[in-house]
Amino acid sequence: MLQVHGVHKSFGTLEVLRGIELTVRAGEVAVVIGASGSGKSTLLRAINHLERVDRGYVSVDGELVGYRRSGTRLYELKEHQILRQRTHIGFVFQSFNLFTNLTVLENIVEAPVNAQGVGKREADTLARTLLARVGLSDKIDAYPRTLSGGQQQRVAIARALALRPKLLLFDEPTSALDPELVGEVLDVIKDLARGGTTMLIVTHEIAFAREVADTVVFMDAGQIVEQGPPSAVLDNPREDRTRAFLSKVL
Ligand code: ADP
Ligand code: MG
Repeated sequence: MLQVHGVHKSFGTLEVLRGIELTVRAGEVAVVIGASGSGKSTLLRAINHLERVDRGYVSVDGELVGYRRSGTRLYELKEHQILRQRTHIGFVFQSFNLFTNLTVLENIVEAPVNAQGVGKREADTLARTLLARVGLSDKIDAYPRTLSGGQQQRVAIARALALRPKLLLFDEPTSALDPELVGEVLDVIKDLARGGTTMLIVTHEIAFAREVADTVVFMDAGQIVEQGPPSAVLDNPREDRTRAFLSKVL
């Protein structure tokens, strides 16, 4: 479902991604761990073409993200084509990013109606189903500011799902939450994992990673140092850098 091949990205002289190779199969959950500054967010942003990569490519469900191929060369897609591609990739941020002037329901139907041309009634029905799934049916007409952080993040997840994405990206979805609200958001993500949603999740929640990940990916200084099942990467890491990181967070 997701293939990242030979991706390099620099900001000025700072090389932030240094040859990333990553494959996530349909229905799999990959969890990315690594110290602050190791390039995790930049990788997610590159996958969604919020950052243009310097070398390499990303493909989602066999389609190059942000580019088209002609022979061996890659040509950048037009902005409207990139925007259309982006609707196949859900992105849940640390800071929720809900529209504060819209109700919960309006937040969820906005993109399907305006970006995908889904009919209003169909979008409404889907939104109600998704709100039930994240346990927020009673908040359908509430405004985001009246919700807890955990509730807002669950709305953000429902909003991402409303686009029926092929791939769902999470960038530290619980880092902005008070500790007692982390569990309700992780439970929703675990439910999606069981339902077969293909996900790439950046998180510092190691116990959660052990539970949901098919693959754990450890990044350091712009490289994937080690990747494999949790039993390997978390419990029997091969690399010194992985061991050093885990000794700090476990
Ligand atoms: P992580 O998510 O693992 O903490 P990031 O991908 O956010 O790491 O950042 C990796 C490095 O790239 C950091 O040193 C960060 O300061 C730098 N960086 C990220 N975005 C930009 C940008 N737009 N301009 C310049 N430097 C950036
Ligand atoms: Mg980050």
